[in-house]
Amino acid sequence: AAPVITIDGPSGTGKGTIASQVALALGWHLLDSGALYRGLAVAALEAGVALDDGAALAALAGRCQLHFVSGQLHLNGRELGDQIRTEQVGLAASQLAQQPQVRAALLDWQRAAAQPPGLVADGRDMGSTVFPTALVKLYLDASAEERAQRRYKQLRDKGLDANLANLVEALRVRDAHDRERLHSPLTIPADAVVFDTTTASIAEVFAQVMVVIRR
Ligand code: C5P
Repeated sequence: AAPVITIDGPSGTGKGTIASQVALALGWHLLDSGALYRGLAVAALEAGVALDDGAALAALAGRCQLHFVSGQLHLNGRELGDQIRTEQVGLAASQLAQQPQVRAALLDWQRAAAQPPGLVADGRDMGSTVFPTALVKLYLDASAEERAQRRYKQLRDKGLDANLANLVEALRVRDAHDRERLHSPLTIPADAVVFDTTTASIAEVFAQVMVVIRR
């Protein structure tokens, strides 16, 4: 099997950026598992499937084609683009991610991404559930205030609507969904190396992460 590096943590810790930089540096594949949950959320919202109906969502996942083309997520051949990055879709994704049947439906698809020469996988349960035997497990964290600030800036830079107070609240709800769900909650894998990115720049975190990977 191909080697896997997992990067987990709550939203707004910079793990998506770090994961893509690490994948680029190593020449490995990248799995943005959150994008998968977001893509399924778009499909569910469009099809009018309830976000708490595990069986219907799993059936929907079986019917849809979600795949990445040069880093962009496609749903049934259509590029989704920044549509998956809105708070509405993020919240919907975190709701359907509560359903064990949804998580099971996406499991094989995620594991199939572990192809030579290697995979960098970012998400919530990459090290704990999807790739428990990963070569290196990283966990990125940051204060809730800092994470909300980052999300705010990210949305504004993309020209999307953003309100800081709403973002803090949305983050709180999503953190609770991720940490309190019964199936594959967000936890720090026992063998993970933890980084607090609250006051660190992306460049600093990247440098530290590469030291851990290379040793
Ligand atoms: O990482 P991102 O914010 O794009 O993920 C969107 C949502 O999908 C998260 O709020 C989380 O609830 C869910 N998710 C998950 N497991 C993963 C990745 C994302 O439950 N491995």
